[in-house]
Amino acid sequence: MDDYKLLIDLHREGRRQGPGGDAETELALNLARIDRAAPLKIADIGCGTGASTILLARLLNARITAVDFLQDFLDVLEQRAESAGVANRISPLARSMDDLPFADEELDVIWSEGAIYNVGFEKGVAAWRRFLKPGGLLVVSEITWLTDSRPAELQKHWDSEYPEIDVASAKIRVLEKHGLSPVGYFVLPEHCWVEEYYRPMQARFEDFLNRHGNNIEAREIVTAEQHEIDLYVTYKSYVGYGVYIAERMG
Ligand code: SAH
Repeated sequence: MDDYKLLIDLHREGRRQGPGGDAETELALNLARIDRAAPLKIADIGCGTGASTILLARLLNARITAVDFLQDFLDVLEQRAESAGVANRISPLARSMDDLPFADEELDVIWSEGAIYNVGFEKGVAAWRRFLKPGGLLVVSEITWLTDSRPAELQKHWDSEYPEIDVASAKIRVLEKHGLSPVGYFVLPEHCWVEEYYRPMQARFEDFLNRHGNNIEAREIVTAEQHEIDLYVTYKSYVGYGVYIAERMG
């Protein structure tokens, strides 16, 4: 099994594939002042196994296209949507986020938790904006510097992992530059990383290693994930996930 398949195998059982939380998804919804009764058309881009998709489907009167390029994750999402009784509101779409099929001004809301970095924040914002109706909302979470300066080791790590990482003011500037007016911003609290994402992942390590005969590839994946967790714990006061809410100007 190649590394990619192994990563899918480790993450498909997770409720989330990145930091987040139901209360924080709902906080973003409230900051966006989305009308819960209005019939809305939404895309959840990079939805993974659908933690945010299913919650949005439960809270809103919306039709949601759940986009992810991994069919394995969408299969899990479909089962979970069935169990939650919201499958009829969700259309899974196996597609890359840099090749989306929406029409100009088709969507009321674009939602994307922990995923836009895959195309890059600015490229994603610039490309997705045209799918929003004027007055439509973008809600997106993105890795963000929490302070103006930081330890060299941390800077070096992110310069190689994702050089587009920046402070919130710079991310907000990118939104403005692309015709999106900021309406809200907050930082995901620590429990969104630890309780919602890292701890459940760590609890799956042993079964994961056993399933793969404790082979070197599987062990390397666990080591890399554990390294990411250790970095977070050491440097959590400098780096986090920002949640950005912005409205498309007319
Ligand atoms: N929103 C989910 C998943 C975040 S992880 C959550 O918060 O739990 C990022 C997701 O983006 C993964 O599910 C991954 O499969 C997906 N992804 C990565 N690159 C992608 C691409 N180019 N197109 C579509 N989805 C992509």
